[in-house]
Amino acid sequence: MSAKLIDGKAFAAELRARVAATAAELKAAHGITPGLAVVLVGEDPASAVYVRNKNKAAREAGFRSFDIRHPDTLSKDALLGQIAKLNADVSVNGILVQMPLPKQINPARIIAAIDPLKDVDGLHPVNAGRLMSGENGMNHGLVACTPFGCMMLIKDALGENLSGMNAIVIGRSNLVGKPVAQLLLQENCTVTMAHSRTKDLPALCRRADILVAAIGRAEMVRGDWIKQGATIIDVGINRIEGADGSVRLRGDVAFAEAEQIAGAITPVPGGVGPMTIACLMRNTLVASALQAGLDQPKI
Ligand code: NDP
Repeated sequence: MSAKLIDGKAFAAELRARVAATAAELKAAHGITPGLAVVLVGEDPASAVYVRNKNKAAREAGFRSFDIRHPDTLSKDALLGQIAKLNADVSVNGILVQMPLPKQINPARIIAAIDPLKDVDGLHPVNAGRLMSGENGMNHGLVACTPFGCMMLIKDALGENLSGMNAIVIGRSNLVGKPVAQLLLQENCTVTMAHSRTKDLPALCRRADILVAAIGRAEMVRGDWIKQGATIIDVGINRIEGADGSVRLRGDVAFAEAEQIAGAITPVPGGVGPMTIACLMRNTLVASALQAGLDQPKI
């Protein structure tokens, strides 16, 4: 039997529409227009595309969008000065510094300089710590965008009650693996975190009702690793070059095999990817409401 396809593209479009509608309500009721500043240092073509898409999504949500660009020779101190200005600017509710940064700038130092209330990437140590303590989560505070998007898709597939389910997260990055595992734990899942030193990964995967793959290795998770009926969230984005020079995107899960066994599965592309920008818009709206002293909007 073939798994249900989890359509992240359609889900993200609906989420962005809900964010835009809530932003319009916020404006009508309180005169607030959320502002998102996206800072790009250098001219990496992939980063430039991401930044363009984020600014476009912000404008489509009815936000103010601040597109800030610097040459790749920018010093760490100059970037810290830019962050300080954005922290102090009341028309800016969210600050995102596009990664990767040039080698002279330590990304951790920059993330730590962002006001945690404006940290719409959810990566500031204060927000990461609040996620760990349970203060930040699905209904409160700023949570990293891709993990938040993964959870929305899991709940859409399985319903609100995930209590007691076995979940495995493959990958332990601060950006994806660790925050996804924390969110699953908050939902009372029994969570296994796997990584490059994990022994007998296929056997651990076969016990999982929910499998999140955030590895960066094309089609590593095979069909016979998957428990019958499991929900599979494939975060991986791997560019595979064909003999003719064409480039195809592949996830971390061997989709054709996995869909024969899984209950529900995200495709790549069109699964988790579109959720990341949609959740960035959600976070910007949440940040602007919280900064105005309002309750967190339910979106
Ligand atoms: P990282 O490289 O930071 O982390 C990869 C993780 O995978 C590490 O924890 C690593 O383990 C683990 N890993 C590597 N090889 C193996 C293996 N053979 N067996 C088990 N675990 C392994 O990547 P990210 O978390 O940043 O991203 C992961 C993937 O998700 C990438 O393909 C990236 O492009 C994609 N991505 C997609 C996004 C989206 O919007 N859809 C957003 C962000 C990322 P160890 O810690 O031991 O080295």
